[in-house]
Amino acid sequence: MFRKLLTYDEAKKAIEQNLKPKPLGIEEISLLEAYNRVLAVDAVSNLDIPPFHRSTVDGYAVKAEDTYGADENQPLKLRVRGSVHIGESPKLSVGSGEAAEIVTGAPIPEGADSVVMVEDTHRQDNELVVYSSVTKSENVQKLGSDIKNGEIILNAGQSLGSREIGVLAALGKSKIEVFKMPTVAVLSTGSEVTEPGKPLPEGKIYDINAYSLCTAVRESGGKPIYMGVVPDEKETLRKTLEEALISADAILTSGGVSVGPKDIVPVTVDSLGKPGLIFSGVALKPGKPVTLGLIGKKPIFSFPGHPTSALLTFHLLAKPVIRIMAGKPPQETALVKAYATKRMFSAKGRRTFVTVRIKHDDAAKRLVAEPVESGASGAITTLAKADGFVEIPENQQFIDVDEQVVVQLFSETW
Ligand code: AMP
Ligand code: MG
Repeated sequence: MFRKLLTYDEAKKAIEQNLKPKPLGIEEISLLEAYNRVLAVDAVSNLDIPPFHRSTVDGYAVKAEDTYGADENQPLKLRVRGSVHIGESPKLSVGSGEAAEIVTGAPIPEGADSVVMVEDTHRQDNELVVYSSVTKSENVQKLGSDIKNGEIILNAGQSLGSREIGVLAALGKSKIEVFKMPTVAVLSTGSEVTEPGKPLPEGKIYDINAYSLCTAVRESGGKPIYMGVVPDEKETLRKTLEEALISADAILTSGGVSVGPKDIVPVTVDSLGKPGLIFSGVALKPGKPVTLGLIGKKPIFSFPGHPTSALLTFHLLAKPVIRIMAGKPPQETALVKAYATKRMFSAKGRRTFVTVRIKHDDAAKRLVAEPVESGASGAITTLAKADGFVEIPENQQFIDVDEQVVVQLFSETW
């Protein structure tokens, strides 16, 4: 078993060269099921939107020139020809000195080029008194002014939320092509770890990592398969991993990667097939024992057991891979600039990540990054308190108080 520590940059390079991640293919799904999926092809409009000139107000469609000079003191009179019905093509046209009643969203009739707001008129039978002039195109949304036929509206690789799905509906699409979601098996190891929902015997703790990692997989565009908890036993672990290799595109484990007698994960991963272990140990703090195996084309990321280290190393090393497999750009840039509230020290020779909470300093009117204790204490509350982390390079001793730092967020909001 080799235990040569890679630098963080070497580890990233090893991932790129050995895993060569790529999207897993394309599938067609209903637009209503598309939340959080990733568009696989550019969305191109094959119609003009709006598809006709339409009124943006309730009022009267007119020829603008017929209203020139009209104001409160010198109103003008027009003859109402009838009404335009919404949702139908207009059955009348507007000539000189004429007006047609119209509602918001209805098509502008032939001959008219603008709409006088109902508030600026007074109507008696078919006589319309106009108290305000309009210019050409006033209160009209022109055909194709929003989206033009042939225009690319969303690019492949875009994740879909309520706004994007609304735009795709506007194009008339009920089905869309998205990237297949990578399935990622997630399991926890440790004879002390118990599944939530079960009683907690003495000496045991509840499993945090499988839950936080399953959710992190979802946030990264993958589909987690929860495999539960495996005790520190080689044979059981081996069987569970073999089962996971059949159904999943990638595997995440936590715990059992240090150098104690119970730390059986690296050797077990290596025994599963070729090429086996890619690295076991990276000069990081926290997260030094993080391990990567590759069995055939399927990566197995093994994170340390401390919940914060597990999540942090997931973000640093596994998340970009899952994002690429899901068709997303490898890194999102959820970064926030803030000022350090304390001096933050690095670990000699290791890329150090200090978990921080972002706060607003009302007096100084600025955002501050407050270190959240984690490290040796392995405090669970770190996870709840920290919004993200600050990175300190290997050759830098510390970040000083009041220094501006860039916080990489765990989630897209904080
Ligand atoms: P290990 O990396 O297995 O040495 O575990 C380091 C620490 O993290 C130990 O205190 C474990 O009990 C704890 N730990 C390991 N796995 C989990 C887990 N899934 N959920 C919560 N704590 C864990
Ligand atoms: Mg353990």
